Amino acid sequence: MERQDIRLLSREALEQALTGDLAQPRFRARQVWHWIWEKQATDFEAMQNLPAALRSQLAERFAFRPLSIETEQHSEDGTVKVRFQLHDGPLIEGVLIPTPERLTACVSAQVGCSLSCSFCATGFLPLKRNLTPPEITDQVVLLNRIAEKRHGKPLSNIVFMGMGEPLLNYKNVLAGIERLTAEDGLHISAKRITVSTAGIAKMIRRLGQDKVRFNLALSLHHTTDEARSRIMPINESNSLDALVDALNDFYAETGGRITFEYILFDGLNESLADAERLVQLCRRVPGARVNIIEYNPIEQADFKKSEADRREAFIAHLEENRVTAKVRRSRGKDIDAACGQLANKG
Ligand code: SF4
Repeated sequence: MERQDIRLLSREALEQALTGDLAQPRFRARQVWHWIWEKQATDFEAMQNLPAALRSQLAERFAFRPLSIETEQHSEDGTVKVRFQLHDGPLIEGVLIPTPERLTACVSAQVGCSLSCSFCATGFLPLKRNLTPPEITDQVVLLNRIAEKRHGKPLSNIVFMGMGEPLLNYKNVLAGIERLTAEDGLHISAKRITVSTAGIAKMIRRLGQDKVRFNLALSLHHTTDEARSRIMPINESNSLDALVDALNDFYAETGGRITFEYILFDGLNESLADAERLVQLCRRVPGARVNIIEYNPIEQADFKKSEADRREAFIAHLEENRVTAKVRRSRGKDIDAACGQLANKG
C-alpha cells in the first residue's frame, strides 16, 4: 500500500492517526504537527523528541513528498528563478524578487494553466494538475532559505502570480495560505500575501464569503469586454461588470486591498481613452489601485511593450485622476523569470 504524505493530513486527521491506530497520547500529535509545520521537517528521523519506535512506525505508514530544487538561475538584477520538481515528476517555477524595500516570493498554484491568456508563456503549457498545500508552502520555505542565504533576511511578501490560476485550485491555495499564516505554521502576515487572479467572479465572491485576510490582485490588462476577451478568454464568461460586482462583494466582506494589474502593450491598451476607462473602473471598486507592469516578450506571441512616452502619459492620466498607480519594473528578464514568462525554460 502506498504510504500517504503526512503533510496532507489535517490537524484532526493527524491526531486521529496518532491516538487511534498508533495508540499514542494526544501530545504526540502536537509534537509531530510542530515538526512538520513550524520546523518544516521533511524526515521522521529529525523528530528527535519522539521515541525511536514511534519514528519508525510513522515512517512505515507515512511519507514526506517535498519539492526538490531542480535548477536555480540568477539574473543580473538579483532575481532568482527556481525550478522545482514535484515528487511525481512535473516541474513548476517560483521566483525570488529582491528590491531595496522587499524580498518577494512569487509562487505557482498549478502545473501549467487552463486559461490560455495569449500574452503568457504558462498559458501555452497544458494544465497537468493542481498543487497540494505542502507543494505550495514548500515553494515559500525553499525561496525563504535562498532569501536568508543571499540577503540575510526572510521573505517580506508572497505573491501567487507564478504558474496557474490560484482560484481554480481554491481549496489547496487557501489551505496553503492557512499554513503560511498560522501561528503554529510559518506565521507570515496575511497582509503580506497577494493572490492574483485572471478573474473568476464566482470564486472572487467566495473569497469574500470565506473572509480571507490576504490581498487580491486582478489581472485586468484591458478595459472593454471585447478587447479583454481577445487576450484573456476567461473574460467571455466573466465580464468586467461581473468582476466589478464580485470585487465589491469581496471588499464588503473583507475590506481587503484590491489591485488591478495592467500590462501596457504597444498599440493595444495604452491610449488615453484606455487610461480614462481604467480610471472609471477604479472608481467602481473601493480602494482599488493599479500596478502598471512592463511587458516581457515571449517566443510564443507577438506582443510588444509600450514605449516610455506612452507609458508616462498613461500613468500621468491615472495620477491626475487620483488613481494610485505603481510601476512594476520587469525583473529577471534575462532568465525568463519575469511576469508571464514562466514556462519551464532555460
Ligand atoms: S496569466 Fe495566469 S491565468 Fe493567464 S495563462 Fe498565465 S498563468 Fe494562466
